[in-house]
Formats: sequence, C-alpha cells, structure tokens
Amino acid sequence: MLKFDITHREGLARTGIIHTPHGDIHTPAFVGAATRATVKALTMKEMNELGSQAILANTYHLILRPGTELIKEAGGLAEFCSWHNPTFTDSGGFQIFSLPNVKITENGVKFKSHIDGANFEITPESSMQAQWEIGADIHMAFDHLAKSESYDDMKEAMLRTHAWLDRCVTEHEKLADKGQSEQYLYAVTQGGTFNDLRAESAQYCASQPVDGFGIGGVFTADGMDEMLKTVNSILPENKPRHLLGMGQEPIDLFVGAEYGCDTFDCVGPTRMARNGSLYTKDGRINIKNAKYARDFTPLEPDCDCECCKNYNKAYLHHLFKTDEITAKVLASIHNEYFIVHTVDQIRESLQNGTFKEFKKQFLNRYYHK
Ligand SMILES: [Zn+2]
Repeated sequence: MLKFDITHREGLARTGIIHTPHGDIHTPAFVGAATRATVKALTMKEMNELGSQAILANTYHLILRPGTELIKEAGGLAEFCSWHNPTFTDSGGFQIFSLPNVKITENGVKFKSHIDGANFEITPESSMQAQWEIGADIHMAFDHLAKSESYDDMKEAMLRTHAWLDRCVTEHEKLADKGQSEQYLYAVTQGGTFNDLRAESAQYCASQPVDGFGIGGVFTADGMDEMLKTVNSILPENKPRHLLGMGQEPIDLFVGAEYGCDTFDCVGPTRMARNGSLYTKDGRINIKNAKYARDFTPLEPDCDCECCKNYNKAYLHHLFKTDEITAKVLASIHNEYFIVHTVDQIRESLQNGTFKEFKKQFLNRYYHK
C-alpha cells in the first residue's frame, strides 16, 4: 500500500505526506500537468526550481506518441523526461471520451488517433499495462466519462467505471506481482453533479483494494463544496485523494483543500500563460494590453519566481508583442509558480491554523469582492 501520513486535520481538510518511490509529496500540493512527458514551455530544471513536487503525464497521449514501450525501454517516465521526483499518470479516459467517433463496448473503447486516424482500442487491462510501462508512481484507473450531463448518462458512465475498476484492480495486481518496481493505483470516482451518484461511486471505490482516489468529472467550482463533502466523507480518511483537472482558478484549490483533497493538476496555468493571461494577487491580467507597454514594475512585486525577480511588465509585453519564445517561457514560469506556491501557502495556513483567514483575504483580493 502507498504510505500516506496525515500530519494535521481541520474539518475535512488535512495536510500530509504521500511517500512515493520517487520521493515525498507534502500535501495539499499542485501537480504539474506534463501531458506528453513535458510541462509546456518549461524544462524539468525550471519545474524543480519553481518548487513543483510532482508531475502528471497522460497515458492516451503517450500511447500515441512515442508509445509506452519506448518509455519503458528508456527506463520509465522519470528517466525518460529527467524528472526524478514523484510522478502520476492519468488513464487517458477523459481525452479518449472527448474525441469524435468513440465506440464504447463493455470491453473498452475504440477510437481513431487524432494525429493520423489510426485505429486504437483501449481496455481497462491495456490502460493498466500502458501505465505500468510508463512507470509512474501513481496510476489512475480507466474510467468512463459520461456523454452528457443527464442523470441517465451519468449513471451509466458511473456503473461502467465501477465494472472497469474491478478489471483495473485485477490487472494492476497481476502486473504488481510481476513488476520489479513499486507502482500504485487510484480508483476514479464519478457521478457528475448528482449527490446520490457521487455517494454511490465513492462507496464503491472505497470498497476496493486501491491506494488512493481520483475525483473525476468536476469542471467548475459551483457546487464543488457540497459534492466534495459527500465524496470525501465517504472515502477512507487514510488514503490520498486527487482532484482531477482542477486548479486553473485559485478558488478551485481553496475549496478542494478545504473539503479534503490532497493533490490537484490542471493544464490551465501554463495554457493561459502562453496566451499572455497572467496571475497576480489582484486577479489575472492580459500582459498584451497596451497599458503595460511602459510599466517597468514586476508582475508581482513580492513573487520569488525567476520571471518576477528579473523582468518587468514592459519587457514581457514586448516579448508577447513580438511573439518571442521567451514570452511563453517566462509567463509559464510565473503562472506555474503562482499556483504551486498558492497551494503551498494553503498547506502552511492549514498547519498553523490560519486557513480560513488566508482563504478570505486571498479570494477577496483576487476576485475583487
Ligand atoms: Zn512571478
């Protein structure tokens, strides 16, 4: 079993340490989205320097390119991308179900590659095999994303996710018996916005011999507090929980941590950075805006990232206006640092009993309340 120590509790919120084969993750923590085994525009050295504790790669993308056998041959994800810290893989379910012309059978899903139209089939078993080849510390079970928000579709997707979870667990245990490395499995809970389905899914996942839980199918902070209250009151307290794909908006991270989530991942911070949309404590700004052309102050005066310590807004504005590659690099360093560091501050505030105050002060300023 994956070792997880809880060091402090406040209601459903907790701080803790997940002990992975590639090191410890102090939680709550924001995990960098390294979809294709890279965080866009950033090197792993930069990720390390900005304080990231872990990365999450995507199985669907790595199956297509470069192929999971190649990653195994390279010595696994950590060796391949030179990130010698904790790693996660997402099962790829979310990406596959977002493709057009996906054919779902009880066995798995058939789809065409978005790159060259080649036919692929992924089953719970093959997703587990692919994730073992990639070799991340923590894997996600292969889940079914509902085709609509309707109750019937959500229920169908949830039940299939549970049936597939049984097969993921069996395959994972088989691979663990053969494996020479330690790798761990999280079940993924579903249920959309329906409280009874969320509860049923949490109960089902809680009954399985897994190491932790992914909470899937969450897209907005609206109603997230109630949903997380339901799910995280049911999931066993002694196993870690990962809120999948959330963390573009600071409020997602505050609500997620408050209601018992330990780790988060999201492509949003670096995607917005590449578009020139940058976090400040007073909300997000568009650095391409003409008003920054002669602004010689840093993005955030008290930010310790490489971008803010060395460059000003006028320079960033110029780099974006002239479409320099460095614009995307510096903006990504700042946005990723901002979100990683915000979750670090959430963790510290939980440890020293000032979370409620910190949340109110941060969110009021950020959202101009
Ligand atoms: Zn900064």
